[in-house]
Amino acid sequence: MTTATPTAASPTDGPADGPRRALVVMAHPDDIEFSCGGTVANLADDGWRVSFCLVTSGDKGSKDDTFLAWDLARVREAEQQAAAARLGVAECIFLRWPDGFVEDSAELRERIVRVIREQRPDLLITWDGYRGFNHRDHRTVGLVALDAAFPLARTPHYFPGHADAGLGWHRVNTVLLTGSREPDYFVDVGRQFDRKIEALLCHASQVQSTREELSERMRKRQAEAAAQGRIPWAEGFRRLTFGGTAAPTRAAALRAVAERAAAADDPEG
Ligand SMILES: [Zn+2]
Repeated sequence: MTTATPTAASPTDGPADGPRRALVVMAHPDDIEFSCGGTVANLADDGWRVSFCLVTSGDKGSKDDTFLAWDLARVREAEQQAAAARLGVAECIFLRWPDGFVEDSAELRERIVRVIREQRPDLLITWDGYRGFNHRDHRTVGLVALDAAFPLARTPHYFPGHADAGLGWHRVNTVLLTGSREPDYFVDVGRQFDRKIEALLCHASQVQSTREELSERMRKRQAEAAAQGRIPWAEGFRRLTFGGTAAPTRAAALRAVAERAAAADDPEG
C-alpha cells in the first residue's frame, strides 16, 4: 500500500513574473476532463493561463453509425469548448488529425512544437506515452508532445521557419504525464469535485450517466481510495522537470553570439 502525498496546486518552478502558463496536449475531446480536469481547474483558479490542444476531434467516438464523422467532430469540439469554459480555460486549439490514425510523424511534431512556441507554457500536461496498454492515439500523442517539449521546441535549429513567423524557441520547465502506471506526483483536487462533474457532463455524446449517477460513481471511487490509504480525491502524474530559469529570448541569445564574435575579431579586446 502506498500513501500519496498531496502537493501544491501549482506544480512548476517557472518564472514568477506575470501569469504562469500551462498547455494541455491530448488526443481526444474528454481526455482532459477524465484525467486531469481537477488539476486544470486548480491552475485556472490560481491565476494560470491555461490552453488546451486537441490533436483529434474524436470523430470515431460513437457507436451510432448514422452519425457522419465530420458532424461528430463538430459536436465534440463544441462539447470540449463548453467543458473548458467550466474549468476556467478560454482557448481550445483543434489540430483535427483523424481519430485513431495519429502517427509519430515529423508533421505532427512540427505542429505541436509550433503550438508550444505560440503558447509559451511553463508547464505541459500530456499522456504518459510509456504507459503500455492504452488507446493508440494516447500513447502516440504522449510521446510526440514530450519530444516536442524536449528537445525540439527549445532548440532553435528545429523548425527554423517558425522564426519567420515571429516565434522564438521556448523552454518548457515542467511536464506532467497523466495516465502513468508509476505516478510520483499527486495534486489534491478535492475542491474541484462539482466542477469536474460539470465539465464531464459537457461531453454529452460520450457520457450517458446523469449528474447523480456520475457523482455517485466518483464518491464510491473516493471512498475506495480512502479505504486503501490513498488520497481520496487526487489526480496522479509522473513529473519531469527541465530546469527552473526562464529561457533567454531569441534576440538576446543572438546578441550574445554576435558580441562574442565581435570580441574574437577585435585584437584589442
Ligand atoms: Zn482519448
